[in-house]
Amino acid sequence: MKILVAVKRVIDYNVQIRVKEDGSGVHTDNVKMSTNPPDDNAVEESVKLKESGKVKEVIAISIGEDKAQETIRKALAIGADKGIHVKADSYIEPLGIAKILKSIVEKEKPDMVFLGKQAIDDDCNQTGQMLAAMLNWPQATFTSKVNLKEKSVEIVREIDEGLETIEVNLPSVVSCDLRLNEPRFASLPNIMKAKKKPMEQINAKDLGLDLTNRIQQIKVDEPPKRKAGIKVANVAELVSKLKNEAKVL
Ligand code: AMP
Repeated sequence: MKILVAVKRVIDYNVQIRVKEDGSGVHTDNVKMSTNPPDDNAVEESVKLKESGKVKEVIAISIGEDKAQETIRKALAIGADKGIHVKADSYIEPLGIAKILKSIVEKEKPDMVFLGKQAIDDDCNQTGQMLAAMLNWPQATFTSKVNLKEKSVEIVREIDEGLETIEVNLPSVVSCDLRLNEPRFASLPNIMKAKKKPMEQINAKDLGLDLTNRIQQIKVDEPPKRKAGIKVANVAELVSKLKNEAKVL
């Protein structure tokens, strides 16, 4: 069995985002970049399945500028076998990413594609769903538990009412939630070993796909600053303020 796992390079989740003065986006120069957090869970789960003997090969793919290779190398250090870097120098929206992934799926023929549930930079939560639709494969989204069987995969997903268990036939697209597992840290020897693992490079332009973005970003703004709170002396004062000032009672 073979897994293709999609890893996106994004601004590290601990970084305080700074909006550009002209509202055209956010500052990325000299900013720490990392793997999109749920993609770390997707890599961890793929590697665990490999270690359990159920999966033979794990391929990590990233689409983006040359530095996306660092993200792939991290997946290789965790335990992926091979990397595919699809070079693209500008932002491609989820539809284009899904088209690229589809063309790689057709070439590599994995039994499962693992993705993160959502990229924390564009917050789209679309790529996996679009890919499944284009491949006409079943999909399981927001996965918090995976039980891989011979011809299907049983998935637990958290929904408003509790935990939902579904089973989808392979091949399928699975998007991962942060609760799926605890991603491990790559050890130094594995980071060194990862440097020797194969990394294929493809230019997005050579795939013959229409990657034109269809969404125009008009403006990026800082969220409004929160007003400072006040302390009240007792419950009576709180009720009075809610009634007379906030007028919510
Ligand atoms: P999104 O639909 O943008 O929220 O992204 C959902 C998931 O698709 C991410 O968690 C990644 O697993 C995958 N993905 C999106 N963009 C890329 C990219 N440029 N390279 C690799 N994987 C990506």
